Amino acid sequence: MKNKENSRQMSARESAAITIRAFRLLCRIYPGVIISMIANIIWKALTPYVGIWFSARIIGELAGGRSPEVLKSLVLLSLASAAGISLVGGILGRWADGESRRTWFAEEYLFVDKNLQMDFVRFDHPETRRLLHDIEGSRRNSGWGLPRLLWSLQDLIAPVFSILGGIALVISFFTNRVPESAGNWTVLDNPVFLVLLIAGMAGIPCISSLLANQGGKYYAMNNAKHSLENNLFSWFCFKGHDRAAAGDMRIYRIDKMCMKYGFDRKGLFSSQGYFANLARGKVGLLNLASNTVSHIFTLLVYLYVCLKAWAGAFGVGEITQYVGALSNIAGSMGQFLKVWGDVRNNAPFLRQTFEYLDLPNDMYQGSLTTEKRTDGDYEVEFRNVSFRYPGSETWALRNVTMKFRVGEHLAVVGCNGSGKTTFIKLLCRLYDPTAGLILLNGIDIRKYNYQQYMAIFAVVFQDFKLFPYTLAQNVAASGQYDSEKVRDCLLKAGFGERLEEMKDGLDTYLTKKRSDNGVDISGGEAQKIAIARALYKDAPFILLDEPTAALDPLAEAEVYARFHSIVGGRTAVYISHRLSSCRFCDKILVFSEGRIVQQGSHDALLREEQGVYAALWNAQAQYYV
Ligand code: ADP
Repeated sequence: MKNKENSRQMSARESAAITIRAFRLLCRIYPGVIISMIANIIWKALTPYVGIWFSARIIGELAGGRSPEVLKSLVLLSLASAAGISLVGGILGRWADGESRRTWFAEEYLFVDKNLQMDFVRFDHPETRRLLHDIEGSRRNSGWGLPRLLWSLQDLIAPVFSILGGIALVISFFTNRVPESAGNWTVLDNPVFLVLLIAGMAGIPCISSLLANQGGKYYAMNNAKHSLENNLFSWFCFKGHDRAAAGDMRIYRIDKMCMKYGFDRKGLFSSQGYFANLARGKVGLLNLASNTVSHIFTLLVYLYVCLKAWAGAFGVGEITQYVGALSNIAGSMGQFLKVWGDVRNNAPFLRQTFEYLDLPNDMYQGSLTTEKRTDGDYEVEFRNVSFRYPGSETWALRNVTMKFRVGEHLAVVGCNGSGKTTFIKLLCRLYDPTAGLILLNGIDIRKYNYQQYMAIFAVVFQDFKLFPYTLAQNVAASGQYDSEKVRDCLLKAGFGERLEEMKDGLDTYLTKKRSDNGVDISGGEAQKIAIARALYKDAPFILLDEPTAALDPLAEAEVYARFHSIVGGRTAVYISHRLSSCRFCDKILVFSEGRIVQQGSHDALLREEQGVYAALWNAQAQYYV
């Protein structure tokens, strides 16, 4: 939430704690991935030493005993072990690969599930949106957060095992001493060399990884810039593939702006951009220095091992073994430290992830049942309700007081921004009032069980969404449905003719992407399907926010002519800009600047000649006279 907080440096302890917490989370959401990954890593880390060991024995035998029998057995064993290692490696690799396919989905689901469990009001809060946007940007664009931890884990565990395996192979390097007969060369056994070697093994990887991490920090520090540009880049460049944008792209030549992001040589990601300059400049130099330091050290190790062999401490064969093992240990330590640096750079992103996942649900949820009353008798009352959107200073609703009974048809009219949609959102408890009460049958709606309360409403929001499933699945909002009921609701919503034309009928996919017989539907058709979905829910209340905005005038007239039979005995609240459609409603609420300024029947409201309703009515009527 607080960007400054995220940029704050975290101590090694804090980084370790949050990383362990994230690791436990990863183990919980995809245990198979973690287990297969670790098995695979250990195998990969340890098996190279088998090859090194056999090479050493074979070279030793070639340079020493030269016994054909021994050589034959060594070569055969070496080949057999190589085959066995690669077979097991292949099996483990396939297992890990198969499991890893789930990672993206599992992680996405973690966030989607959190979003859906979150109180709507919290989810809609600008701070929450910003936090989620930041996390998603870092995650998708650069893998910061949970994905990077998974990558890092692989790179962190492998070196540990590699170091352990290496140590097992180099112990004899320290115990094999230069023979006295070598004269001055016995100096190579002087403990100073041993101390220097161990210090170098520990110190050089530190220096090398410190240098590399300095480079890595630049990327973490510039993540916000990277994310923003990546979003813009994707937005502009991928718009070129978007069919819906094709018209505007041509008319307004948006492609020129796309070119700026895609091909501008000075753009953030281009060959002369910020990151390319970093790679050529500071970061490149730091990486170069990091590699050079570790290569020089390997060279010195090589020299020392060769000199000890020259002096007779061990045979030629062991040179391969010791050099291989020592440079592997040094390389692995370097890798471990480098990745540890990466883990620390990643820790603030993990903190941000948990900040989101830990967001609490504060909305009070009672336990009263809404009891499906057999008499269907409900009464809704708004008592002096005022409301401000989270993070907003202005009142969207002010002192709204009204009542309506079940079965009534209520129209809500008013200019844009007057509070009509907000009224509906409060009624179905997406938000709680900032002040005042909403009552169902005389009881504060907060005291009802939240899921049960939501279940008594079927809503068609202005920005309703359909999904790329079949027509029937969209109407029923489920994979299981009653075909007759789906058809009936579609007919009531005026979708009958279009349904006749559909080859696959109710099984028609609402997108061409899923089937050749799929259809891409128009806005008006979508609106009818959304109305059918609301009817299918069989809820006692049906709330329609401009249900005919996308319909042509004929379809609109048809919906209104049959409105009463469409909604039946349900309580209907609908927002409309078409005032003629309100005439048949029992009651009309007129909103202005968040207040109900008039309420009553059409005729009664028209009689108030100076009222907002009369003004709105006359403004529309003049075009029809
Ligand atoms: P109407 O449906 O009458 O067009 P709304 O209920 O959508 O009006 O909006 C009422 C007021 O609340 C407007 O000033 C609008 O800008 C504001 N508003 C609507 N939604 C939000 C939101 N999510 N966050 C902040 N303000 C909002």
